[in-house]
Amino acid sequence: MVSKEGILMDEGILIKIIDFPRDYRFNFLYLLHVTEGWYSVTPEDVAIHIAERCRCDIIIDAFCGVGGNAIQFAFTCHQVIAIDIDETKLMCAKHNAMIYGVADRIEFILGDYLKLIPKLKADVVFLSPPWGGPNYLSAKTFDIKTMIPMDGEKLYRESLKITNNIAYYLPRNVNIQQITNLAGRGNTCEIQEVYINGKLKTMVAYYGELVDMDFCENNA
Ligand code: SAH
Repeated sequence: MVSKEGILMDEGILIKIIDFPRDYRFNFLYLLHVTEGWYSVTPEDVAIHIAERCRCDIIIDAFCGVGGNAIQFAFTCHQVIAIDIDETKLMCAKHNAMIYGVADRIEFILGDYLKLIPKLKADVVFLSPPWGGPNYLSAKTFDIKTMIPMDGEKLYRESLKITNNIAYYLPRNVNIQQITNLAGRGNTCEIQEVYINGKLKTMVAYYGELVDMDFCENNA
């Protein structure tokens, strides 16, 4: 897979651009897309890239959906804890993980991530919460506090109880200042713009030790 990388300065914030040449969802035929899981699944090349960036011992995929990210984490992490509140999606994720031959490395948990936080331990948390339905792009800027159903700022703060190493998958119109502020005063976060075939698709913000400090220092 060939991806192009670049940088962009936006109001003093350094943004990394990454462009993927293909828009695969899952590259197999048996995806059980009985729900909107198909539309919310992270494109496979993007999920592979994120999994590489999140390489660690134990990772939590807090909103695993049909498994687009969890499956790729199983290739780069020792153990994956994949959570979803929707039983059907979790069933799809298990099925898909079996097809990829990684079901044994993923622990699937049915439940509300926010309620499970006190019981969870991990090196990295990956957040890809719902974006409030298909109209998320109709707003000029996507406000994570009001437009992510469980309050995206609270979600980040609560996740800090598990680890500082957080990767946050967000819409392309997300309020950049808001996701930068999550890092807290004096701390750095890394923001990636994800392109597919030259079209901006999504954003990924990395916090804690997931930040590529060499990249930030060399381009600041
Ligand atoms: N990254 C996934 C897609 C995630 S879509 C993929 O690539 O396949 C967001 C998911 O969050 C949905 O499957 C939804 O059921 C789940 N969800 C919503 N609220 C939740 C909660 N409180 N706890 C855990 N999962 C939740």
